[in-house]
Amino acid sequence: MLNVHGHGLAVRMLEAGLKSDRLHHAYLLSGPAHVGKTTLATQLAQAVNCTADDRPCGTCGPCTRVAGGAHADVSVIEVDPDATEGARTVISIDAVKDLIASAHLRPFEGRTRVYVIQGADRLSHDAANALLKVLEEPPPDVLLLLLTDNADGVLPTIRSRCQLIEMRPLPVARVAEVLRGEHGASEEQAEMLARLSRGCLGWAIEASSDPAALAAVQQRLERIADVIDGELEARFAYADELARRFARDRAAGREELFLWMRWLRDVLLIQQGQGDRIVNLSWRDTLERQAAAITSAELTRWLHALTDTVGALDRNANPRLALEALMLSAPQGTALHPLASAERRSPA
Ligand SMILES: [Zn+2]
Repeated sequence: MLNVHGHGLAVRMLEAGLKSDRLHHAYLLSGPAHVGKTTLATQLAQAVNCTADDRPCGTCGPCTRVAGGAHADVSVIEVDPDATEGARTVISIDAVKDLIASAHLRPFEGRTRVYVIQGADRLSHDAANALLKVLEEPPPDVLLLLLTDNADGVLPTIRSRCQLIEMRPLPVARVAEVLRGEHGASEEQAEMLARLSRGCLGWAIEASSDPAALAAVQQRLERIADVIDGELEARFAYADELARRFARDRAAGREELFLWMRWLRDVLLIQQGQGDRIVNLSWRDTLERQAAAITSAELTRWLHALTDTVGALDRNANPRLALEALMLSAPQGTALHPLASAERRSPA
């Protein structure tokens, strides 16, 4: 049995395929970062090579080797930081050439060769075309698992040759329950992490055992609070900083824009008298101060601009231009008085 939290329908479909030995040869696992795509891909790679009856058992030799990244028939293909196309780093044609060369060989130690392609929306033009040929005429005993947090960015010809598995975030209450039940989180910690995770269980589990991850989020939130309070110059400096982050690590840049969305949504909730629903609990004082300084109309416009910016960046807009435009659209009235940062209460 696949051991995955949530994603009921997709998991049942895959289990049925496993049982009857009728899996498709290619799946596109799509969903936000940390939603569980890699976990599911790893379990599928185990399942098709597991030697037990109830696959994946998680404990036999092949299962253990897949989990440890040491199974000879399971390869992970990722974006190459040295390969670029335009402004973005991509999965290079070389990586796909290696895939093609080995895909036509018989499996070394297991039954099925598995290729996990992380960031399927980032295949270079040539890499995508080469992969398309494999998808059109898949060799026997090969399972291709394409993972993406941006299914719209995957070439339609590739998308249409994969079975699409859409992985949606879990309900916040479910994340909190798993954190309490399986990861020893306290009631309060589970609640906070679950809200911050936006339903992405993987992130919440990681953060629950890694205080540094949580500290990093708090640092980024502090930066966001500063930018909202700051002058235009500070906002442009921030746009530049965030554009660089996008170039280095697109997922991290995107993640930061989601932090922005949640922050502004919290300000809006306070304005609407729904302060009990905010996510950034430890920033209540700062949020309340900003809620009093910005009008709801300005805030709503800014939230729309943010959503549009995420969409534009997913369609490969130039990050620097898009982020500068976003900062220009920010309400002007928020350059709050100079004591604003001194007043800010640091989170516990
Ligand atoms: Zn096993």
